[in-house]
Amino acid sequence: LLYNQVQDLKGAIRVYCRVRPFLPGQQSNGQSTVDYIGEDGNIMIVNPLKQGKDARKVFSFNKVFTTNATQEQIYVDTQPLVRSVLDGYNACIFAYGQTGSGKTYTMSGPDLMTEETWGVNYRALRDLFHISKERADAIKYEVSVQMIEIYNEQVRDLLVNIRNNSQLNGLNVPDACLVPVSCTQDVLDLMKIGQKNRAVGATALNERSSRSHSVLTIHVRGRDLVSNSVLKGCLHLVDLAGSERVEKSEAVGERLKEAQHINKSLSALGDVISALAQKSQHIPYRNSKLTQVLQDSLGGHAKTLMFVHINPELNAFGETISTLKFAERVA
Ligand code: ADP
Ligand code: MG
Repeated sequence: LLYNQVQDLKGAIRVYCRVRPFLPGQQSNGQSTVDYIGEDGNIMIVNPLKQGKDARKVFSFNKVFTTNATQEQIYVDTQPLVRSVLDGYNACIFAYGQTGSGKTYTMSGPDLMTEETWGVNYRALRDLFHISKERADAIKYEVSVQMIEIYNEQVRDLLVNIRNNSQLNGLNVPDACLVPVSCTQDVLDLMKIGQKNRAVGATALNERSSRSHSVLTIHVRGRDLVSNSVLKGCLHLVDLAGSERVEKSEAVGERLKEAQHINKSLSALGDVISALAQKSQHIPYRNSKLTQVLQDSLGGHAKTLMFVHINPELNAFGETISTLKFAERVA
């Protein structure tokens, strides 16, 4: 009982691990660094270069999803956290992992046009709209979104060019960055604009997106129709920059600068979350733009969930271990 209570208290920070499948055409040879996944949240990783007892290492999380977990299954456990935003809580959901491990797949999904494959972002919004309609007799909710990117410690507003008469018919946009939405279609339209803005100035979109953090924030404001009291909550959905370490020889100039910024901000995030998990007196929010932006939604009564992503290929072994170590530190 006590253990469970502690887990519940600690439940403010949860870490889930998701292993992506081998991609079509990828030479798996039936070989994977993932040896075993337990129902209990354990994952066993095997080191392809070692043998015997030293070759295996176990990491523990709140849950580990196998390669055949569906987008729906990934979302189910996240749902209560999303719903708590309508009760006035703040929450953050992060996707962490090396480039190509499945972060964007989890958060956005592979294809916006197919609802079954929608990621956490759209499922969360669909849910928020759905529940706010259910409660419409008692509470009047307003939902609005922001979309930013943090690149080299600079914040870029991805919805900055949206004005009243933009593609979003009839939506009124105060000061461009906070955009009211009333259905998932509004959101899909906004995402397209945000993605387009993200591409501006980037030589290759994929390259750029793997080196910047993207933060979709959903603001909810609810007015109780009887008492007139107002509650506010927000949900940050964060697709983090790729966590891979860059070869020293390879990193020069811009690339080196990017790598240093990513490194700094991911470790700052790890420091903040582990300080929160340990109930430290001092939480080091000021050490990166990312943690500054999210400060109000990390700690206090806010809830945090992190999906850490594993690429099961043998050649990703080193990154897999460093991803799991990062995750274990914040878990
Ligand atoms: P990241 O955002 O971490 O760089 P992506 O989400 O772009 O990685 O995933 C890399 C590739 O793997 C993409 O082609 C994506 O469709 C595929 N992929 C990732 N996760 C899954 C999954 N759970 N099931 C099927 N394909 C996946
Ligand atoms: Mg991505």
